[in-house]
Amino acid sequence: MSKNNLCQPVLVSACLLGLPTRYDGKAKRSQAVIDYLQREKLMPVPVCPEQLAGMTTPRAKTAFHSGDGHDVVHGVGSVVSEIGQPMNDVFRRGAQLALQVARLCGCQRALLKERSPSCGVHRIYRGNEQVPGAGVTAALLIEAGIEIISEEDL
Ligand code: SF4
Repeated sequence: MSKNNLCQPVLVSACLLGLPTRYDGKAKRSQAVIDYLQREKLMPVPVCPEQLAGMTTPRAKTAFHSGDGHDVVHGVGSVVSEIGQPMNDVFRRGAQLALQVARLCGCQRALLKERSPSCGVHRIYRGNEQVPGAGVTAALLIEAGIEIISEEDL
């Protein structure tokens, strides 16, 4: 097979592929994502940064208390669970592990779930309010030079 026929690997939020990785134990399977991957001949590399970090499923819902993912990466913003637990360290660990997977698999792009505190690309929740901003994993991937898009960009 020539190199041109090889599928390019792309990191994908596992819940978009139908894996039940969300905080509530559900998936967010997106047919648009699956069609896009097939049409573009991309090889999905599923990751859930929150599971990679060792969090259970189901788990407490988490939202930003201040800042966004870039701020958390740089130690100034904060993510807090709905039971009041500070989550910065575990979310940063999940982001670092997702970046390691991307590098190990040669992913230069990532397709991520919008509005998640880890994976959100353009929007996140701060408390109960939707605001512009990136999740912690999305921010770290951007800062590492990985191109990211959300399922809502397709
Ligand atoms: S962390 Fe990302 S992959 Fe995991 S459930 Fe949330 S949105 Fe999906």
